[in-house]
Amino acid sequence: MLAPRIRNVVSRLATAVVIALAMQLPTETALAQATSTGTHLILLGTGGGPSFKKARAQPANALIVNGSVYIIDAGNGVARQMELAGIPAQELRAIFITHNHSDHVADYGTLLLRAWLSGLKKPVETFGPPPLVSMTRTYEQYMDWDIQLRIVDEGRPQFATLVHPHDIANEGIIYQDKNVRVSVAEVTHGGAKPAYAYRFDTADRSIVFSGDTSKNAKLVKLAADADVLVHEVLNPEAVDLMVATIDPGNATLKRHMLESHTAMEDVGRVATEANVKKLVLTHFVPTGVATFDLPEVWLKGVRKTYAGDIVVGEDLMEIK
Ligand SMILES: [Zn+2]
Ligand SMILES: [Zn+2]
Repeated sequence: MLAPRIRNVVSRLATAVVIALAMQLPTETALAQATSTGTHLILLGTGGGPSFKKARAQPANALIVNGSVYIIDAGNGVARQMELAGIPAQELRAIFITHNHSDHVADYGTLLLRAWLSGLKKPVETFGPPPLVSMTRTYEQYMDWDIQLRIVDEGRPQFATLVHPHDIANEGIIYQDKNVRVSVAEVTHGGAKPAYAYRFDTADRSIVFSGDTSKNAKLVKLAADADVLVHEVLNPEAVDLMVATIDPGNATLKRHMLESHTAMEDVGRVATEANVKKLVLTHFVPTGVATFDLPEVWLKGVRKTYAGDIVVGEDLMEIK
């Protein structure tokens, strides 16, 4: 007779098999084959802002280029979203942070730690505005008890030697490997300075991430003629309701929302001025508020100023 713990595992495995069959999930091999060549963009988290939200996960995106994984922003839940998308932690090559607001960086350390504990063997390069390097070292100290124990107790490799953090000092090209060339431009995001937008050029696609920004000429230049622009979006009409819900009467919060983000019509203008082929909306402000966070509302707001392809982003959506 099986021990209760084993029986539990067997029963969970059986359930997983039944669910996998019912949903016709791709096997790991099939998924690895599907992303082993070319460029694949997957939205991991499309929510905007630091407060509790059940409608969408916090900001994170994955680019898989010839099987190598590049993560753009690492909001709370990024590792879990990668698991749900079937993205292998072992293939993580680099992380790019747009700015250090917590909704973009909350699970930066957790992602690295969980990747390390999931069989990561190759170094990961990480980039972001200062103080990313010191944040990385501080996280290593915060988790030092766990890290040192697992090295001794489980034979894990050194964690610190696998993680190579970089503070971005200048605009222009910041990273290049056989799959991708990455350039940045500084954008305007209220008091969050510096904040960066990223452009990824691969053999078959060019993809730009606005990060959080107000309408910005440097972003238009960075995104010129790109295949895809992944842009944050704000519905200004929702701001009063949001402030009343989160912190009634907080005029500073209201000003931050209105001045540090890009309203729907301006998002369309940026896409038009940059002549991008496809506009993907993400980082929805508000997220999950009935009557506002609806595809038709976002589309209507942005369509007024952009005639190209518009995608209203959702968590775990692959952008073709
Ligand atoms: Zn944000
Ligand atoms: Zn922000």
